[in-house]
Parts: sequence; structure tokens; C-alpha cells
Amino acid sequence: MRILISNDDGVTAPGIAALHAALADYAECVVIAPDQDKSGASSSLTLDRPLHPQTLANGFISLNGTPTDCVHLGLNGLLPQTPDMVVSGINLGANLGDDVLYSGTVAAALEGRFLGGTSLAFSLLSRQPDNLPTAAHIARRLVEAQSRLSLPPRTVLNVNIPNLPLEHIRGIQLTRLGHRARAAAPTKVVNPRGKEGYWIAVAGDAEDGGPGTDFHAVMQGYVSITPLQLDRTFSDAFEQLDGWLEGLL
Ligand code: MN
Repeated sequence: MRILISNDDGVTAPGIAALHAALADYAECVVIAPDQDKSGASSSLTLDRPLHPQTLANGFISLNGTPTDCVHLGLNGLLPQTPDMVVSGINLGANLGDDVLYSGTVAAALEGRFLGGTSLAFSLLSRQPDNLPTAAHIARRLVEAQSRLSLPPRTVLNVNIPNLPLEHIRGIQLTRLGHRARAAAPTKVVNPRGKEGYWIAVAGDAEDGGPGTDFHAVMQGYVSITPLQLDRTFSDAFEQLDGWLEGLL
């Protein structure tokens, strides 16, 4: 088993070190991750400059690009052998509901969608690393179990872990994505030379966070696993759109 590990918090983030340590004696692991925090990078590729991999003292490969760049290179020539699966994280911060649209953590796993093994994205519901051991333990169990899974290609599992010590985790729930409310307005700032700018605000609160959603599971102390697929086609809209298009051209 060969595993490509990446993240969006950057190659020096504590979450990727914890994930690597948890998997290192289970599989042949290679780490390729952005040289800086690329949270919110989604599935972006860098197309305006070359990418330069650099191997650090701990063996991790640092790349001046996005999480998707890292996995893309890892699966397309940078490594001598193609990995069997991608494992992403452990992100410090939730990736629930609408977050998956923006998340570089989820994007890294999605970039592994052509591989035989189902890729996994792990996020801990905290900006602090205190409960990373909980997330690392759960990641190890799920990666081991992945070998008994045969989901179709283009599927990834988005895993969110409550910010709790392991003994307080109540179990695992399969969930659907909830929805967030709109984010607050960006915060306006002025630099010392009078130039105005904006900080994007934090994500909105759960608006659709009832039973069955990822939000609800983690709030109740359960690990949330949402299977994600790439196809976002809204099939139920076909009927109405058919009528709408009739006679238009
Ligand atoms: Mn992140």
C-alpha cells in the first residue's frame, strides 16, 4: 500500500506531521504539501509559473503551489510509483457543509479520485492541535479499513472529527452535507499608507444542521463521514428547465 499524504495548512503544519506519524508503519507514505498555508485554495491549479518541489530534512516534499498541485504532481510523474490512495489533513478547523466548496483539504483528496483506493480528507474541529491524537487515531483506523472498501472511482470520504479526547468520541455517523448561512461581510482594513483592503470573514453558522447532517453529528460528539462525489448535476431541475427551454430557439 502506497499513500500520498497532503494538506492545505502547509507542509510544516502539526496536522500533517500527526497524520504521517499515524500511517508511517502501516503503508509506504510520501508527503507532498504546500510550502505555506493554502486553506481555501479549493481545487485550484497553478498555471502561471513553474512548481519547484523541495525535499525537507524530515523527508516531506514542500511545493510552492496548492494542495491540488501537490497531489497532481504526485500522481503524474513526480513519484517513481503511483500511490494507491490519497489521505489529506489533518486540517485544523472544520470542513462541514458548504466548506467543501472552498476546502483545500477536501480538494487534495478529490485530486486522488482516479486512484483505485478511496481517498480520505480529515479535519479536526479546532484551530488548536490539542486533540490531534484523537484525529490521528481515527485516521489510522479508517485508512486501514479502506482496504475493505470498493466504492466507485470519483468518490471521496470527508471526515470531520469533534474536538474531544478519544474516550469522549461517541462513535461514527454517516452524514449528508448540511448548509451554512452566508458569511458575515468582509472586514475592511486600512494599511499604514492609507490603502484600503478587506479580510474575508469566517464562514457562516449552520443553517441546515439538523439530524442526519455533518454539523449535527460532530455537535453530538460523533465522527462525521460524508461520502462525496464529483457529479453535481441537479437532475431534479431537468423537468422544469425542459419546459423553460421549449420554443426558446
Ligand atoms: Mn486548512
